[in-house]
Amino acid sequence: MLEKFERYPLTFGPTPIEKMERLSAHLGGDVKLYAKREDCNSGLAFGGNKIRKLEYIIPDAIAVGADTLVTIGGVQSNHTRQVAAVAAKIGMKCRLVQESWVPFQDAVYDRVGNILMSRVLGADIELVDEGFDIGIRESWERAIADVRDKGGVPYSIPAGASVHKFGGLGFVGFAEEVREQEAELGFRFDYIVVCTVTGSTHAGMVVGFAQDGRARNVIGIDASCTPEQTHAQVLEIAQKTAALVGLGQDIVADDVVLKTEYAYPVYGIPSAETNTAIRLCARMEGMMTDPVYEGKSMQGMIDLVRQGFFPSGSNVLYAHLGGVPAINAYSYIYRNG
Ligand SMILES: *Cc1c(COP(=O)(O)O)cnc(C)c1O
Repeated sequence: MLEKFERYPLTFGPTPIEKMERLSAHLGGDVKLYAKREDCNSGLAFGGNKIRKLEYIIPDAIAVGADTLVTIGGVQSNHTRQVAAVAAKIGMKCRLVQESWVPFQDAVYDRVGNILMSRVLGADIELVDEGFDIGIRESWERAIADVRDKGGVPYSIPAGASVHKFGGLGFVGFAEEVREQEAELGFRFDYIVVCTVTGSTHAGMVVGFAQDGRARNVIGIDASCTPEQTHAQVLEIAQKTAALVGLGQDIVADDVVLKTEYAYPVYGIPSAETNTAIRLCARMEGMMTDPVYEGKSMQGMIDLVRQGFFPSGSNVLYAHLGGVPAINAYSYIYRNG
């Protein structure tokens, strides 16, 4: 479905799928868990899901003659770190607005992990005292105007590279890639588990998997803790992306499955159950997840297995979207492991 769109290669290629042998057995063995490693998708500053989206956005930035990528996120945003790395790679400047989305007081929260790397990557960073919101922000619009006032040509990328006309394409490609890998593996995944916040990862998957009737087998695990806004944003992006790629079928609200019971207490703060899931996954598989995103989707997947949500014999694909650098900003929580 993506042939007509230009792609600027920023990833290593198809991401590996590996079996989570010990975690599956630990949870009873009736459900077979696999992980698709988007966290290992690129050499650009540790990679992650935003790189796959940016492959379809960067050609537009180049086409319009931009010289500065402008985007926004929380202080420990993975997205802004990936945009900073991409800007460096393609020889553009990068302007980042980082808002106080997470009420967390670790002493070095604004010094380590993602923001440390964004600084080393040469991004121009502005810290802004505003709370969490996945929508369009005034601070971001001001930064765009400021770049323009100083004679630059800004290219604006919204939070999470989601509410952008091409934001959903990368994860349509993910679904197509999974289908090719399934042909090699000799079986189909019954469910795909994905962490959802700004929405275009989930939305792209809904469109990509709608093609073979699996839109509702994509199980989004909300980590925004504002699930109504997130569900609406996923639906809107999926509908626009479906029209853009010519899917030929309607996407309706029920096609967006979003589990809302794991995001507590709030965006960016792990619950005790999230931390238990992070430790279990690390100790069973050697696979790291983070306290903001993948720890919550891992918690959700483990809980859904235990609840019997996935029928016995199911093959479940966990999309590991990256994000581990942020764990450095939570060092006090993990001081004893
Ligand atoms: C951005 C991000 C997500 C959420 O993806 P959206 O497309 O914003 O819904 C999940 N996990 C990680 C590690 C992320 O960086």
